Amino acid sequence: MKHNFGAGPGILPHEVLKQAAASVVDLNGIGLSILEISHRSVEFEAILEEAIKLVKELLNVPEGYSVLFLQGGASTQFALAPYNLLPDGGKAAYLETGVWANKALKEAKFFGETVVVATSKESNFTYIPKDYVIPADAAYFHITSNNTIYGTQLQEFPISSIPLVCDMSSDIFSRIINVADFGLIYAGAQKNMGPAGTTLVIVKDDILGKTGRKIPAMFNYQAQIEGGSMYNTPPCFAIYVSMLTLKWLKSKGGVAAIETENTAKAAILYDEIERNPIFKTVCAKEDRSKMNVCFVTENPEHEKPFLKLCDEKGIVGIKGHRSVGGFRASIYNALPITSVHVLIEAMQEFAEKNK
Ligand SMILES: *Cc1c(COP(=O)(O)O)cnc(C)c1O
Repeated sequence: MKHNFGAGPGILPHEVLKQAAASVVDLNGIGLSILEISHRSVEFEAILEEAIKLVKELLNVPEGYSVLFLQGGASTQFALAPYNLLPDGGKAAYLETGVWANKALKEAKFFGETVVVATSKESNFTYIPKDYVIPADAAYFHITSNNTIYGTQLQEFPISSIPLVCDMSSDIFSRIINVADFGLIYAGAQKNMGPAGTTLVIVKDDILGKTGRKIPAMFNYQAQIEGGSMYNTPPCFAIYVSMLTLKWLKSKGGVAAIETENTAKAAILYDEIERNPIFKTVCAKEDRSKMNVCFVTENPEHEKPFLKLCDEKGIVGIKGHRSVGGFRASIYNALPITSVHVLIEAMQEFAEKNK
């Protein structure tokens, strides 16, 4: 068994993988594979219904919101958010906290004026800007809850009088959120919810239909809502495995329980980085992510040999993003604390050897 610290597609619970593998051959004993049944079959309709029910239950989604499973990844949502929410001649506000936020911002420019209310670009995104004013006349305010590449995370969400749009790709279901604070939440499944291929969208119904713009059906949230995420053939397998993962999460006690575990996992790892003379963090302490723990070696020459040691111990996926370097340990929901212990032991062993 490997210790999978990869940033995405990320680790999935082992029992989910086993169940998914069995269903590829025979779904629930029906004599057909999950891969070869109609999306209009009773079996698949039950899977989609269960997936939506689990999202609503686990995140306590209030009335007046729709839950969609779409395709195209979070990157498609970068464009669909402004396409559906930003009227011609209107403006949209963005908090620039990294590469993903920046890509979202770029897509909005196709549809109207954009305002960057604050950025941490000058420090290579090592912190979350906090003192800013959200323009009340903007159509929405876009934020990225967890910056997967830099290892920063919004610990608190801004209070906004305009709809808050949030890319939660890398921390959805990792902590309790109040869905009612948001107009639109989206997340590619492959970090913390399931396999690549589907994107979760939670949208407040009454913010739609205000752009005066004609939107092709596949890009139109309203059309997708009316089609029940089945305007066309949905990504059946990705939805199925996401459903299994959400079921697993529920069986573990839900989001509150996993948040406690995630907090513990992050705390022991950051403690070790601070204690260990070989390593250091780069991000502002108050903004550190509980999902992607980024760190570097004090001495750049220690980088390669430490990666080698990790490899020997079955620790995979901890090389930092190419734009940041160093290391990134992604400690998503499905990663057991025992794997974090193995990483910490490797760090201690490395420090001992390099005294
Ligand atoms: C990975 C990631 C994305 C890109 O997701 P795709 O599904 O590949 O489009 C966007 N935002 C954040 C925060 C991410 O971590």
